[in-house]
Amino acid sequence: MTGTVGLIDLRSDTATRPSQGMRQAIARAEVGDEQRGEDPTTLALEARVAKLLGHEKALFLPSGTMCNQISFLVHCRPGDEVICAANAHVFGSEAAGAAALAGAQFRPVHAPTGIFSAADVEPLLRAPRHRSPRSRVVTIEQTTNRGGGRVWPVAAIAELAGLTRQTGLALHMDGARLLNASVATGIAPADFGALCDSVWIDLSKGLGCPFGGVLAGPAEFIDEALIWKHRLGGAMRQSGIMAAAGLYALDHNVDRLAEDHENAARFAQRLKAIPGLGVDPADSFTNIVFLRLENTGIRANDLAKRLSAHGVAVNVEGPVTIRIVTHHDVSRADIDRAADLIADLIAGAAPGKGLAT
Ligand SMILES: *Cc1c(COP(=O)(O)O)cnc(C)c1O
Repeated sequence: MTGTVGLIDLRSDTATRPSQGMRQAIARAEVGDEQRGEDPTTLALEARVAKLLGHEKALFLPSGTMCNQISFLVHCRPGDEVICAANAHVFGSEAAGAAALAGAQFRPVHAPTGIFSAADVEPLLRAPRHRSPRSRVVTIEQTTNRGGGRVWPVAAIAELAGLTRQTGLALHMDGARLLNASVATGIAPADFGALCDSVWIDLSKGLGCPFGGVLAGPAEFIDEALIWKHRLGGAMRQSGIMAAAGLYALDHNVDRLAEDHENAARFAQRLKAIPGLGVDPADSFTNIVFLRLENTGIRANDLAKRLSAHGVAVNVEGPVTIRIVTHHDVSRADIDRAADLIADLIAGAAPGKGLAT
């Protein structure tokens, strides 16, 4: 099942629509009242994701954003500080939730790939003083969305976990695309997840569900998270309808993420050859590719508009930056078509060529 007819939607893997198989799983779902702990399908999803991520317990939530926000609410008191990459989703794309809800402030680390080290964090840790914010959480993104879908290596996470444990901070993983990282590396999700004090996966990205995230952690953490879920209005009723989609996705849509990674690599490979066009990353793809247009003679808005006229949607990330994301609902042929179009449009914009307008 494809998205809007004829549109090749590369703006995000959130463009995925529930497949026929997923819709059938939804229709068959056994349900009960989730707020009373009586929805069997939700309980099954939570138990499965807890195990998958190497933790005691898990909690089904309406969105990944809520997984992040509830984690900060549990880990932080007002005035605490959360260390993150400057391009992190939690910092720039969640309406300042950590500040607005948990009363925490961010301490951004300049890390264009989204990946930083324990050595980067150590100098940022505040000495315990009455006038200083309390350093409380380090949060990392697996994979790094605005870092080009890069995978945090286990060793780097382990090193950070050593530092946070030693200094009494929590290590949080925004695992919106953790399963992409796992498929790309062959490393089990639990090998990443168990290193963190809280971790979640998104069901609505490459896994293809309409919505939902599952947050995992130690029992004590999840018990607190459950209170915040209720308090924020995230508690549901017959949520088995959507949990069934999540279980279906874990059965059918994880291994196939490898196809999305191949498509991203194929897209990048085709465009790398174009003089002046920056392609990031250069290798080791998951499902995200950035195009840097500085030296092409065309601006991101302009390229996006021209692509849109040909039925290809891409994300404008800055004046000269485009992001594309591969997913379940774009085929290899779609990717070839998009890459060919971009190549043609950039060739047309090259100095001396003059774009027909
Ligand atoms: C999409 C995304 C989120 C938010 O997830 P939603 O389910 O859309 O709320 C958080 N972090 C990252 C890195 C994401 O890509």
